[in-house]
Amino acid sequence: MNTYDVIILGGGPAGLTAGIYLSRAKQSVLILDQGMVGGQVILTHAVANYPGLPELSGYKLASEMKKQAVEFGCEIKGNEKIISFDFKGNDKFVSTKSGEYKGRAVIIAVGGQPRKLGLESELLFQGTGISYCATCDGDFFTDEDIVVVGGGNSALEEAVSLTKFAKTVTIIHQFDHFQAYAHAIKEAEENPKVKFLLESEIEEFTGKESLSGVNVRSLKDGSLAKLDVTGAFIFIGYVPGSDVFKECVSLSERKEIITDEDMATSRDGVFAAGDIRQKKFRQITTAVSDGTIAALAVLDYLNGPDPDKI
Ligand SMILES: Cc1cc2nc3c(=O)[nH]c(=O)nc-3n(C[C@H](O)[C@H](O)[C@H](O)COP(=O)(O)OP(=O)(O)OC[C@H]3O[C@@H](n4cnc5c(N)ncnc54)[C@H](O)[C@@H]3O)c2cc1C
Repeated sequence: MNTYDVIILGGGPAGLTAGIYLSRAKQSVLILDQGMVGGQVILTHAVANYPGLPELSGYKLASEMKKQAVEFGCEIKGNEKIISFDFKGNDKFVSTKSGEYKGRAVIIAVGGQPRKLGLESELLFQGTGISYCATCDGDFFTDEDIVVVGGGNSALEEAVSLTKFAKTVTIIHQFDHFQAYAHAIKEAEENPKVKFLLESEIEEFTGKESLSGVNVRSLKDGSLAKLDVTGAFIFIGYVPGSDVFKECVSLSERKEIITDEDMATSRDGVFAAGDIRQKKFRQITTAVSDGTIAALAVLDYLNGPDPDKI
């Protein structure tokens, strides 16, 4: 069995930041990520609001965080699905298909998954026209007509980024107004390639082997419009990936992990950081902040509080 001071589940901004702080403090740290290390940031075309690093691609930002953690000695394993875990005792155990790991403390930083529309036809065209990641799939739709579903910051910002590839981008949103910052709305409205279909929702995705259209129902008068599009990008929020932890730590009604201000959960030695936590604002900076606090609190937990800070 491989033993570490701290095991971090999830290698997004929260997990990587905690990894940087803890490795730098000479703790042995393992980050396990069930997918690609970097988290949702990889899905972000351009990050414009990370202080000091304007207009950095999400992929680059995540890669730099990972590099920094590794340089301090953090061990990182991507594509490691967690098969089982036991966080009850003082020692914490995690099993993946590649091995069993023991830690003295755990930080859960598993973020969330893209929320799906929940239509049957959505399942048929995932990967053949329907995407949840503009950065990953935008260039497949060069010179094509596509739709973006959603009305928040992510939807508007990613719609504008998709205009670099697509001929037109129609934003479909169920309300008559957006839930986004004024600058994001302005940028979308001023982009000649962006069109809007408000108070509407997709009823069905259509096509044979790949997506060729969407049927859109007006929520105002019930009329049906058929759009010929080859791509649909869905940005309607995220659902927390907390289900597997529900027996182990307290969750809110919205299935977020409840922590105190030190990121401690209801379970001794188990901390949580980033989007998975119960909190109001989910950004890279807030995830990084949570990761920092969790790491410092874990240091206190493992070694006792720093006497200078008492
Ligand atoms: C399209 C889009 C655009 C965005 N744009 C911006 C922006 O411009 N600026 C900004 O500040 N924020 C932006 N955000 C929000 C920001 O990306 C998130 O707030 C931030 O990434 C949260 O970091 P995190 O580490 O908590 O979680 P995540 O980034 O979600 O990382 C969680 C990691 O945990 C892994 N994981 C999941 N389940 C498990 C499990 N059971 N075991 C192990 N690993 C697991 C995942 O694979 C993932 O790598 C955007 C989000 C999206 C989706």
